[in-house]
Amino acid sequence: CGIIGYVGPRQAVDVIIAGLRRLEYRGYDSAGVAVQTDGRIEWRKKAGKLANLEAALADQPLPAATLGIGHTRWATHGAPTDENAHPHLSGDGRIAVVHNGIIENFDVLRAELANDGVRFISQTDTEVAAALLGREVDAGADLTHAMQAVSRRLEGAFTLVAIDAQDPTRVVAARRNSPLVVGLGTGENFIASDVAAFIEHTREAVELGQDQVVTITAESFEVTDFWGQPVQTSRYHVDWDT
Ligand code: GLU
Repeated sequence: CGIIGYVGPRQAVDVIIAGLRRLEYRGYDSAGVAVQTDGRIEWRKKAGKLANLEAALADQPLPAATLGIGHTRWATHGAPTDENAHPHLSGDGRIAVVHNGIIENFDVLRAELANDGVRFISQTDTEVAAALLGREVDAGADLTHAMQAVSRRLEGAFTLVAIDAQDPTRVVAARRNSPLVVGLGTGENFIASDVAAFIEHTREAVELGQDQVVTITAESFEVTDFWGQPVQTSRYHVDWDT
């Protein structure tokens, strides 16, 4: 299982698929990618090997986009099907999110959301995070504040990375009991579960601490705790050979 997020001048799909290839060694049963362009999100996802996803992309290419997220899944909740593959979207399609880990209290959250009229289309624990993020942005929060608020409600282990159809500038991620690292490029930035995902582009990295949220744009990154308080980070240089 693995995660990558990208924002910068290049074609996001190409950067993301190459990154997912680099994470293949971790094992997975499905893969998916989502990009933001022209005020909307488009995605492709497939059970099975990355080759299946690449075939789907060749068949129905995603639009040009410079911001996106990708995922390889190791199913814990819901069978390894196309539908359960990530990304998962909020009901109105505004938010796309990918997730590694397990949201332990998803059943309580799912019941609460269902009670509010949310309809779920997968069997995953992840889809509750998409719905909760959607609710926050629809209420006026930006994606960073939405991620902070949602992270406070989630129990268990998660690396979450999300994009907003209405925000062409940022990719936002959170982590608890699950790894997350930022890759700092020149005019482009990365978020991943493992430096291997972006090592061919940059070796400048920032590792996130427990219970932190990071927002990247092409030119900046900002890390806070789940309550929005800025936290100190330290950069390091990845010096292992690939
Ligand atoms: N629990 C999530 C799912 O089953 C994420 C699994 C993973 O870490 O890839 O979809």
